[in-house]
Amino acid sequence: MISRFARIFIVVTAILLLLSIAAFIHPPSLSYVDPWTGQMFGDGGVEKSLPRPQTVPSTPPSEVVHGTVIMPKLGNATAKAALGRATWKLMHTMTLRFPENPTPDERSALTSYFHLTSRLYPCGECAAEFQELLKKYPPQTASRRSASLWLCFVHNEVNKRLGKPNFDCAHLDAEYDCGCGDDPISKSSPPSSDAGPMDLEDDPSKDDITGASMIKGGR
Ligand SMILES: Cc1cc2nc3c(=O)[nH]c(=O)nc-3n(C[C@H](O)[C@H](O)[C@H](O)COP(=O)(O)OP(=O)(O)OC[C@H]3O[C@@H](n4cnc5c(N)ncnc54)[C@H](O)[C@@H]3O)c2cc1C
Repeated sequence: MISRFARIFIVVTAILLLLSIAAFIHPPSLSYVDPWTGQMFGDGGVEKSLPRPQTVPSTPPSEVVHGTVIMPKLGNATAKAALGRATWKLMHTMTLRFPENPTPDERSALTSYFHLTSRLYPCGECAAEFQELLKKYPPQTASRRSASLWLCFVHNEVNKRLGKPNFDCAHLDAEYDCGCGDDPISKSSPPSSDAGPMDLEDDPSKDDITGASMIKGGR
């Protein structure tokens, strides 16, 4: 004779066993219904089903170089020199016409330009060197002045490696007449006293001693 307690125990155990088997055969669905809209969402939840907002990064990417050089070695020295002269001309003129007060999007565009140049520059071995320079000295894009002086510095680093004379970056304006007219960049706050040689982001637009505009240009 089975006691009442034993009967209840057997019934409860059987129910639990049946529930376990049912759960095993039909695992709980990962879909769910949004209680507000009644919309059914699948495995990824709401985020996966909604379009991602198009946000403009507030600051340029900190990691400039991500991706290896694409182009092969350029053996021809004459072609290499001609390509170099043309590219420097393009890039210096670009930074000298860069906005005085660039937006985050404009800064990001210039940073991306240098990054892509370091991958796609048609002289592969030059591109590899340029990548190393970008890692060491990430592009400075806070203003026209910082961008143009940064590029002048980087060009001088290449000059040094190739045994070429150093270029005086105070003469950028005279060397690259972009045909923009006399449109000096606006004054900005003086650099902090503990600024390093490449801390160009907050440099003023005028020479400390002479007061002369070092860079002109405009849109
Ligand atoms: C990103 C990059 C990487 C390169 N890497 C290599 C490399 O690894 N090996 C190689 O053999 N060649 C390299 N080159 C080419 C090399 O830098 C020269 O362009 C080439 O040797 C021709 O030199 P150049 O004497 O005519 O003057 P360039 O260096 O081409 O300069 C052209 C003119 O720009 C002016 N200038 C010089 N220095 C500066 C400066 N700091 N700022 C502003 N203006 C300046 C001068 O008026 C000069 O005549 C590279 C070029 C580029 C753009």
